[in-house]
Amino acid sequence: MADKRDYYEVMGVPRNATEDEIKKAYRKLAKQYHPDLNPGDKEAEAKFKEVNEAYEVLSDKDKRARYDQFGHAGVDAGFGGGAGGDPFSGDPFGGVDLGDIFSSFFGGGGFGGGRRQANPNAPRRGSDAETVLNISFEEAAKGCKKTITYARVESCPSCSGTGAEKGSQPKTCPQCNGTGQVRISQRTPFGVVQTSRGCDRCGGSGRIIENPCKNCGGTGRVKKQKTIEVTVPAGIDDEQVLNLGGQGNAGTNGGPSGDLHVYVNVRPHPIFERRGNDVWCEMPITFTQAALGAEVTVPTLDGRVSYQVHEGTQPGDVFKLRGKGIPQLGGRGRGDQYVRVTIEVPKNLSSKQKELLKEFDSSAEEKNYQKRKSFFDKLKDMFGE
Ligand SMILES: [Zn+2]
Ligand SMILES: [Zn+2]
Repeated sequence: MADKRDYYEVMGVPRNATEDEIKKAYRKLAKQYHPDLNPGDKEAEAKFKEVNEAYEVLSDKDKRARYDQFGHAGVDAGFGGGAGGDPFSGDPFGGVDLGDIFSSFFGGGGFGGGRRQANPNAPRRGSDAETVLNISFEEAAKGCKKTITYARVESCPSCSGTGAEKGSQPKTCPQCNGTGQVRISQRTPFGVVQTSRGCDRCGGSGRIIENPCKNCGGTGRVKKQKTIEVTVPAGIDDEQVLNLGGQGNAGTNGGPSGDLHVYVNVRPHPIFERRGNDVWCEMPITFTQAALGAEVTVPTLDGRVSYQVHEGTQPGDVFKLRGKGIPQLGGRGRGDQYVRVTIEVPKNLSSKQKELLKEFDSSAEEKNYQKRKSFFDKLKDMFGE
């Protein structure tokens, strides 16, 4: 402890230096003495250590105040308590990390919060990316291949994700030794406790990039438009989501990429309506076709098919085309198609057509209109006629 140089002298700043001035001085000295820039130079290494120690104190308001008052004794480890007198040294908390408990008392946390205990260099999976895909009713029913373009975060190709300009490497942060956390001894009413907080030199990343990559600004990540081909399975429905593993945002520290969620929008069809795996549609036929029966052409997902409408078909009657519906998603079999009949009453008749209809009408008997007959029978009952 003897012969320690004055911290202000080490930093080359006056005693009334501002925080900014101290920071600036530190940056200059750290660059000058960094071991990576002075390989094998013992003197530089010692200077670098000294500078870091001085900065750790002078950059911390409380420590600086104690240093100003008591000198080195005010900030040396064990100040006012000493390791032996530390009531927590026996770990009465049974292994609970005190950094976690006390950081909340002392406003610890800083970068990323005091709870951040994970190794900043551990591989982490990337987040999921999202995009929307619009497809037609038929494409949903039959399945399709679609080319989609979406934005995602990728590892920067210039620096291979390191964030350091080509030819340089990120350095392990000397203040936290790459852990992203620094432990600080603090004197409190409980004794001296160790708190840990995010390292302020590296922002909790554990690494320092002195020469940031120009392509990504040192983040190691870039946003890119990505184009891929997606296979949409037959039977997919509106608002369903396709999950494409590994097509999301890049992970960090070699972690895997996230997934891509494709939100499927199915455009409505002018004729068909989907109910579960069944397809419904309405089809107008003429009243002659309905009365006489007729072979009609019905649109289906497989193209046009013929269907024999039977004699005496009524409006609202529904017929079924088995197996003409939508395939079971990811399974076997298909739904059915249901066709609801509507009957179009002819308009703009010529006088000749009107004559023919009148002739037909005068020949009509009760048995031709059974519904109508039962309706009027009920009326008679109601009014007692
Ligand atoms: Zn880069
Ligand atoms: Zn650090």
